[in-house]
Amino acid sequence: MAPKPHSIDIVVSEVGPRDGLQSISRIMPTAAKIGWIKALAAAGLSEIEVGSFVSPKRLPQMADTGEVVRATRALAGVDILALVPNLHGAQDAIAAGAHTLTMPVSASREHSLKNIGVTPEEAVAKVAEVCALRDSLPAGARPGVEVGISTAFGCTLEGAVPEDRVLTLAVALARAGVQSIGLSDTSGYGNPAQVRRLFTRLKAEIGPLAGAGHFHNTRGQGLANVVAALEAGVTTFDASQGGLGGCPYAPGATGNIVTEDLVFMLEAMGLRTGIDIAGLVAARELVKAALPGEPLYGHIPDAGLPKGFTPAGGAT
Ligand code: ZN
Repeated sequence: MAPKPHSIDIVVSEVGPRDGLQSISRIMPTAAKIGWIKALAAAGLSEIEVGSFVSPKRLPQMADTGEVVRATRALAGVDILALVPNLHGAQDAIAAGAHTLTMPVSASREHSLKNIGVTPEEAVAKVAEVCALRDSLPAGARPGVEVGISTAFGCTLEGAVPEDRVLTLAVALARAGVQSIGLSDTSGYGNPAQVRRLFTRLKAEIGPLAGAGHFHNTRGQGLANVVAALEAGVTTFDASQGGLGGCPYAPGATGNIVTEDLVFMLEAMGLRTGIDIAGLVAARELVKAALPGEPLYGHIPDAGLPKGFTPAGGAT
């Protein structure tokens, strides 16, 4: 949400501490989470989604999100994001000092009911309540409010999701006061032609409010979808360190695309991310130490950088 520094072409938003950790049943100790987030910040990440304010009964992995936000919110130059499902979660996130709230809205009715217990229309109403709460705060104390529309490229329950339905939802969210509306390939169904088309249509509908691309590598299309979204003008991408969380439906495949590989690809393409790949690999070691035996994915950490590689941002 924070303005992009001039030295950065593409924002890589790290979602591992939320999306990655909530997909595994093991719980990373709070101190390890905080250490990991600090290492990510030191590597140059400017956006980190650090947890979600949901019922600890439902997701015990996220019970310490308030503590994690409070310990990281003062990190220089880092936008601290937290997922909130409703007004109550938003109040907790604001009290902890999160800079930006992300809210779940799904284009698939069945996915929405199963995942957050409300229809897509009811989810938009919850988002409007949170935007009203934001607007009631004094200027300077207002968090950003963002939505990534999940199942935008297809749904494991409903199958194909009509593009017009996704765009109608995006327009409704823009009217509700959301500052950034992205598209998420929750199911890993998306292909590059579809991604280029839908993001191009999204930009035509809501202009500068069009937000991040969130891609899963379930069927191996993750980075190809990033390139297609780049061609449609997308400048923020979500990714998870080590593809943490994996994909329960496709053994060996990551859930979210891998941050290390995404940053390498962008820098190799001449796009500056502000992120130091060696610092990223060092942060990955902290995840390994905190979750011994948990599968971590990615090619760059194993293969290393090409000989003589110079990142777009210049040698570090
Ligand atoms: Zn994801």
